[in-house]
Amino acid sequence: MRYEKNQILTVEIEDITSEGEGIGKIEGYPFFVKDTVIGDKAEIKVVRVKKNYAYGRLEKVLVPSPFRVEPVCSVHKQCGGCQIQAMSYVRQLEFKESKVRNNLIRIGGFGTDEIDRIQEPIVGMDEPFYYRNKAQYPVGTDKEGNPIAGFYAGRTHSIIANTNCSLGSPENKKIMETILSYMKNNRVTAYDETTGKGLIRHVLIRKGFYSGEIMVCLVINKSCKRKGSENHFLPLQENLITALTRIKGMASISVSSQTEKTNVIMGKEIYTIWGQDFIHDKIFVRNVEEGFTLQGDGITFAISPRSFYQVNPVQTEKLYSLALSYAGLSGKETVWDLYCGIGTISLFLAGCARQVYGVEVVPEAIEDAKENARQNGIRNAAFYVGKAEEVLPEKYEKEKIYADVIVVDPPRKGCDKECLETMLKMKPERIVYVSCDSATLARDLKVLCGGGYELRRVRAVDMFPMTVHVESVILMQYCGKEKN
Ligand code: SAH
Repeated sequence: MRYEKNQILTVEIEDITSEGEGIGKIEGYPFFVKDTVIGDKAEIKVVRVKKNYAYGRLEKVLVPSPFRVEPVCSVHKQCGGCQIQAMSYVRQLEFKESKVRNNLIRIGGFGTDEIDRIQEPIVGMDEPFYYRNKAQYPVGTDKEGNPIAGFYAGRTHSIIANTNCSLGSPENKKIMETILSYMKNNRVTAYDETTGKGLIRHVLIRKGFYSGEIMVCLVINKSCKRKGSENHFLPLQENLITALTRIKGMASISVSSQTEKTNVIMGKEIYTIWGQDFIHDKIFVRNVEEGFTLQGDGITFAISPRSFYQVNPVQTEKLYSLALSYAGLSGKETVWDLYCGIGTISLFLAGCARQVYGVEVVPEAIEDAKENARQNGIRNAAFYVGKAEEVLPEKYEKEKIYADVIVVDPPRKGCDKECLETMLKMKPERIVYVSCDSATLARDLKVLCGGGYELRRVRAVDMFPMTVHVESVILMQYCGKEKN
């Protein structure tokens, strides 16, 4: 049967895509329907018909799924952020665990039996809301000319006003209201993407959940450098700073100048206009075998606005503790930590290894990493700035560097081919791969398996409840059996 646009149909949702859209089939022909939950019987309107599939819009839930829950956030449908907030948390965890499993089988070429034997249960959260320590609000203007801040409506650049995200820290609302009322009262304009005019573009907020320290960075469409003047942050006046410093925990206020027409949020230059250049946070090691109970004194980190820092501190401790446990260190090992950011995993590893080397592309992050090592009295961690796929091969060719264990934690696109090839030449006993995209993880593991490694452990960690994203940690052991 041929389906047509605007046709009204009834489907039962049997599955979801890795992007969180429900899939319902009629005589084997699939319909992708946003905002549905597995188990829903739904009335849908056909919006786009392709040869082998179609997209539908949810019109009405006829019989709700047993996994359907009332979303906490009133704007979750417009916002693209929480794709699966209407799904019970237990079902979300099942979805994520099987997403990792399916990618390892489908893309990685691992056997179903093998994965079922080694995959450990996903690590979920007890309180899956208000977990984010970082928020980035785009700032704009509404139809009446008032400044607003919120989020981009799913896949667009139009801003929906909402400063009360149910994943973020509760202080964000107060901070954003302070900034917006300052803008309104002082006629400070919001940036307009189409004209390239207006001052305030974005507001970045970070909070150290352990320390309570808060950082606010205003991204402005103006050069901050003024020759012969100390007052290079002139467009923002004293009373804004005074109002912001009244918020409990405020530790750092900065401006970043971004004058280019680009989607890149932060500009290259950042000027602290009040307080410290960074905030602190502390991360503890947890006992993986005993339900992630606390162990050890923890490591303190300084985090600057441009550095990467995991957004879910509660789950980060569990993730790093797993990576440390998988690394199986006895104190004698040389460990390379690639894509090390501010050295978070590196410094965790350093307590249990002979020597750790971190590699990271953002120079400020490496500065933070070195300072973090110093502040924590860690002397067996060294750091290099550069791309992992350049630093590692170069060091290997020139200095014949060695590793007992290599830990990688790349961004979504995974490891570069050059990086994987050098790892295979270095032949570390173990490779621990921390991944935020199980599809690229699976792709890279296939390469490592081809080069003599065996998959030993797999565990997903839910770092991003309510969204379709899932983090995972895997352990590979060298076995010398090269395929191909
Ligand atoms: N392990 C760290 C950071 C992980 S995020 C932590 O848990 O905090 C990935 C990091 O890789 C980011 O800091 C990013 O700046 C860095 N990065 C991205 N591409 C890179 C590359 N080609 N080489 C080295 N680092 C890179």
